[in-house]
Amino acid sequence: MDSAHLSRWRRDLHQAPEAAWCEYRTTSLIARHLSDLGLTITLGDELLSAPHVMGRDIDVAREKARALHQGADPHWLDSIGELTGVMGELNTGRPGPVLAFRFDMDAVEVGESPQETHFPVKEGFVSRNQGWMHACGHDGHVAMGLALASRLASRREQLCGRIKFLFQPAEEGCRGGKALAAGGSLDDVDALLTLHLGIHAQSGELVINPTDFLCSTKFDLHFLGTASHAGLEPNAGANALAAACMATTALLGIPRHRDGMTRINIGQLNAGSGRNVIPDLAILRGETRGASSALNDYMFAHVQHIAEGCARAHGVDFHIIKQGEAIGLTNSATLLPALTQLAAELGLTVIGERPFGASEDAGFLLEQVQSHGGEAAYLVLGANLTAPHHHACFDFDEAVLERGVTLLERWAQARLRS
Ligand SMILES: [Zn+2]
Repeated sequence: MDSAHLSRWRRDLHQAPEAAWCEYRTTSLIARHLSDLGLTITLGDELLSAPHVMGRDIDVAREKARALHQGADPHWLDSIGELTGVMGELNTGRPGPVLAFRFDMDAVEVGESPQETHFPVKEGFVSRNQGWMHACGHDGHVAMGLALASRLASRREQLCGRIKFLFQPAEEGCRGGKALAAGGSLDDVDALLTLHLGIHAQSGELVINPTDFLCSTKFDLHFLGTASHAGLEPNAGANALAAACMATTALLGIPRHRDGMTRINIGQLNAGSGRNVIPDLAILRGETRGASSALNDYMFAHVQHIAEGCARAHGVDFHIIKQGEAIGLTNSATLLPALTQLAAELGLTVIGERPFGASEDAGFLLEQVQSHGGEAAYLVLGANLTAPHHHACFDFDEAVLERGVTLLERWAQARLRS
């Protein structure tokens, strides 16, 4: 399983990028590969906790038809129910620890650059899905996961314990991590590793302890009133738009917290049906953020109180629907010395702490493992970029994938030597 394989996989995934919750092609191809290696397969509907799924509103039949047209594996595509995502479990049959690796696999709503100088254009693997692009490197993450599974499966006779290869849907918008964490697959895991390519780190670097993950809650707030004739009987109505306007100004006035950064935004308000009708529906779309989970919780608790108060003031009902969520993330310190040593042996420059500065729903996965007494860490594998993440000209140095896989492979071998 060499770097040519890694590039080939990465490029195949790159030319068919799939949106969050629509990763049917990707899931089917991963399932086929892991099944061919002799791993036990668990697909999305069994892997994820459906009540924790966030921000999913898709046409399954249409997405599956598209995936099939773009080369999904027909057998595995048929086996996938509603939810994307897949886990392959390698059971050595010998008692020992349980390790897990998590790879995310969705693309970003960005139209890929058609410029001839853009590497995927030049090499013929530019996105074929208009308006969607692997502009965050998750194609590279999946390729690494496939290679890692191949290498460890081929060495199963020298290993003990079990290894779970988790391919998570819908990381973008922080929508899938919580459902994966709540699905139960991590509850017996002794150690979990996950990583991201190229965030504030160059080729040849490994950030072993990224900091400053932004905690965030994405929400829709619905006010449900009663419509009535604005001239004949306005008193019979309950004005959802009025509640939404009151809520907007109140939400933007939540007092900031002395303990650190907080944010709130109401980015959208849609309401009403006509000039002479008391509006019976208003939908706000917003988000809170905080430098810590406690600070984000503080902001979101105020959102709930304000929504309730404004609804009551105008005699309307309300619902808050979470559309995405990210919590903080703290690496288990006990994992870091061995990873530092392995990285150094591979010639990687190890960076201790470096601010990450974005949100990541892997926090739920780390928390799930750590709350059961396991260890977990999130790494940043440096990669030179042609443009920032989520940019139309984004591309990363594929050469880093090989060393990344070797690092994970050696770490697993060291922990599971039989
Ligand atoms: Zn990403």
